[in-house]
Amino acid sequence: MEPEFFQAGEPCAVLTTQPLDRALDYLAPEGGCWTGAYVEVPLGPRRVLGVVWGPAAGDYDRAKLRAVQRVLDVPPMREELRDFIIKAAEYTLTPLPAMLRLATRAPGLSDAPATRRIYRLGEGEPDRMTDARQRVLSAMQEYGGLAFTQRELADTAGVTTSVIKGLVKQGVLREEDAPKDLPFQRLDPEHKGKDLTEDQSAAASRLADGIIRGTYGTMLLKGVTGSGKTEVYLEAVAACLKMGRQALVLLPEIALTSEFLTRLEARFGGRPAEWHSGVTMTERRRTWKMVAENGAQVVVGARSALFLPFRDLGLIVVDEEHDTSYKQEDGVLYNARDMAVLRASLCSARVVLASATPSLETWANAEAGKYERLDLTSRFGEAVMPEMRAIDMRSETLAASTWISPTLRKAALDRIALGQQTLLFLNRRGYAPVTICRACGHQVACPHCDARMVEHRFLKRLMCHQCGETTPMPEECPSCHVPDKLAPVGPGVERLAEEAAAVFPDARIAVLSSDLFGSARALKEEIQRIAEGGADIIIGTQMVAKGHNFPNLTLVGVIDADLGLQGSDLRAAERTFQLMRQVAGRAGRSQLRGLALLQTFQPEHPVIRAILSGDEEGFWQAEAAERQAAGVPPYGRMAGIIVSSEDINEAFDLANQLTRSCDPLRRVGAQVFGPAPAPIARIRGRHRVRLLVKSAKGVALQKAIALWVRNVRIKNTTRLTIDIDPQNFL
Ligand code: ADP
Ligand code: ZN
Repeated sequence: MEPEFFQAGEPCAVLTTQPLDRALDYLAPEGGCWTGAYVEVPLGPRRVLGVVWGPAAGDYDRAKLRAVQRVLDVPPMREELRDFIIKAAEYTLTPLPAMLRLATRAPGLSDAPATRRIYRLGEGEPDRMTDARQRVLSAMQEYGGLAFTQRELADTAGVTTSVIKGLVKQGVLREEDAPKDLPFQRLDPEHKGKDLTEDQSAAASRLADGIIRGTYGTMLLKGVTGSGKTEVYLEAVAACLKMGRQALVLLPEIALTSEFLTRLEARFGGRPAEWHSGVTMTERRRTWKMVAENGAQVVVGARSALFLPFRDLGLIVVDEEHDTSYKQEDGVLYNARDMAVLRASLCSARVVLASATPSLETWANAEAGKYERLDLTSRFGEAVMPEMRAIDMRSETLAASTWISPTLRKAALDRIALGQQTLLFLNRRGYAPVTICRACGHQVACPHCDARMVEHRFLKRLMCHQCGETTPMPEECPSCHVPDKLAPVGPGVERLAEEAAAVFPDARIAVLSSDLFGSARALKEEIQRIAEGGADIIIGTQMVAKGHNFPNLTLVGVIDADLGLQGSDLRAAERTFQLMRQVAGRAGRSQLRGLALLQTFQPEHPVIRAILSGDEEGFWQAEAAERQAAGVPPYGRMAGIIVSSEDINEAFDLANQLTRSCDPLRRVGAQVFGPAPAPIARIRGRHRVRLLVKSAKGVALQKAIALWVRNVRIKNTTRLTIDIDPQNFL
């Protein structure tokens, strides 16, 4: 559809970000407006943000129509982004306004353009250093010279504005009046890159060929950790810049490190725009606007960067494409990897999915020829994949409540003697997963959820990992009230650290767990410190598996390789396989050959055997065959329906109504399973009942589901959530 111009006073439809079920009619303002214009419109007593969506529906009394109040001074939303929002909403069965909200998350978008006062580090020295002043300076340094407004700086550093004024007076901070939203530095695709190996250049030129064609296409770039995937896709970014188009690099939030930005800066001679939770509001708005006005060529961001108003997006890289954090699990349920493919297909862009351990979905798409596949087979330089061995826990002797086997202990001691690092991997936060009363056997559970409270000894609290509820560690059993009988059962990383301190008394031990750090930045700093040799033994959860480079790490000990094998989750085997291979890939990234030891009680389990043998293709083929036989994703389609309510009967009533009225699903051959209590049957005091919809692959499942749920009346105390292609079955 061609963009349409609405003359002043002519009716047009405006989609707002408010939870209404349709676009509303308004009169075009003085000067008229185009479809796609970002506008402010009156809604009841308020003014809300909206986008001119198209011709008026005309079903409302024209005499009563109100006028658009203001057209914002930003380029109108392009057809392609509108299409993307509509299709993404259809795919995920999300109301359009909620989808539009993702695309308008730029604070201060409606402010008139002007200059603003910003603060940078100056030349001066403070006359005396106070805590507050130190925090201001640290904040400035942490953000690597990004500009702050006074308010942002005060909030970030946790100081009053008078502290900032004081520092300005002494010349420690410099005040400037800067135009709002400056363009980003021009990036130079010809800036000297690294000399690629033969393998790497072959892959890089295949990627570049695709980009030069200027048509949609998705490529899987598969290569072991350290094979140079990043170097290779940076060449794709270069090719895209040479075409004059924009590139987006998506990373899991945790991998958005300054190390990565520095690498990009080295390749292109300038810093890219950033879009993630660690960026100041001012910078976010700048990125949003500059992307629309061609003042930003490359954006590095987390999943929501997909909804930015690019002028001419030519490439989307999804690094670590298998990472589960690409699936947003609250609010709008979407998978950024899949939405990247959708957006690219609408704007003739290329997608590069990079991973050492692709998701089975992506692997299968490559097998089926829908994606082109490029393999980097060897690690760069002398680094080779680590040797992997199982430690058969059935033949190890361990004292009660200890988890480090003698074999693992000896291997770690050897590394310590050599001055090398060891990672002990355990995917469990906190001190102990279960707290039990030795008097009555009671297990302490969350009052709001169907979950056990996890002891966090560092915080001296019990915590629910579902809802975040915490309580001080009780002194007596909440059930039988006998004091001093509560005991931890099982290990979490904190408890493992305690054991490690006893087993390796001379070693420096560091624990990396997301909950032990106040901020993402503090965590990243700790990672940096460890990478520079600040620890002998690193104890970590899942987050250490992601993209950090510890050059001196040569041994990985997986404390419980069986942990992910239990459970009914469809992706349990795949996840374990990916996680174990990634964790093992942490070892021996530079010249030193690594070793990975997996503690397991079932060394003959097919997943453990596949991990040890390194036969990736074999694993995927076997896993694919099983899923095909069961007709589950990626060979069939699924949707999860969660009905929740504070009243369990109400939740079951609605779920039962749904199962009774499932004709629209039957008509397309889809089946409904359930209702059943969800695996986590209660969260935040709401009971959760689950239905699972399964269908064959080519079925228009969303349409059928939309018809289906329209049949039932939903009370406003009940909530219905639809999760297309669920990743988790909780
Ligand atoms: P991956 O993304 O596959 O894990 P990287 O691109 O991060 O791999 O490469 C691993 C390490 O090897 C990085 O430190 C990178 O700078 C280095 N490296 C990879 N390829 C080259 C090359 N051709 N020349 C120089 N260094 C390289
Ligand atoms: Zn809870």
